[in-house]
Amino acid sequence: MMNYTDAHCHIIPNTPCPDTLAGRICDATNQSEWEKFCNAIDDKTFACIGIHPWQIETITANWANELYDTLAKNPCLMVGEIGMDKYHADMDAQAEIFITQLKIASELNRPAHIHCVGAWDKLLHIFKELSKSMPPLIVAHAFNDDPCVISQIADKYNVYFSYSAPQDAKAESRILQTPPARLLTESDAYDSDTAIQKIEDVTNSIATLTDQNTAECSEQIYQNFQKVISYVRPID
Ligand SMILES: [Zn+2]
Repeated sequence: MMNYTDAHCHIIPNTPCPDTLAGRICDATNQSEWEKFCNAIDDKTFACIGIHPWQIETITANWANELYDTLAKNPCLMVGEIGMDKYHADMDAQAEIFITQLKIASELNRPAHIHCVGAWDKLLHIFKELSKSMPPLIVAHAFNDDPCVISQIADKYNVYFSYSAPQDAKAESRILQTPPARLLTESDAYDSDTAIQKIEDVTNSIATLTDQNTAECSEQIYQNFQKVISYVRPID
């Protein structure tokens, strides 16, 4: 029995989670999408709302209040996709918007799902500055930096690292240097068929790399996924 999980996709959570997946997390990227992400359709689907670093030009004057209020009203929502990207303009504005969202996630005790490209030095500085106002848990989506960052932040900031199938030796080495209890799998997909295919691929790759069978590997990653959503799962 496989327990495949998708820790990061962009599917609007208004269609049921496919049977093949045991859970998925759907990330909005800009304000105009937030409403559609508020009501996840089933108990395997979780959602995040936030401003992606590529979308900072689209914010309205009241965006931060709207984010806070929407999260406060919807205890099942997490914060994401947020972050910094050196290939997108205006790193100062990106940092300001990112910090505001981290603080909101911290205040409301929600995990934050992070996109970071070429800016981990800046993120580490921000994390240090925020210190006690950090979110309770972070998912580093498509982590692609130096593996030495992993040990610096994993326990300190309760970071989970989410990967798609590795394309080269460097990507394999990041996966191997991530503690098994902090590994997640992701599709970053916009439709369910692509998501399933990508999650099967990455889970098989991780199983091969770590000398496990795919069932064992998917179970460990499923347990890690449960830790992430434990902050927003309704108590029954
Ligand atoms: Zn994404």
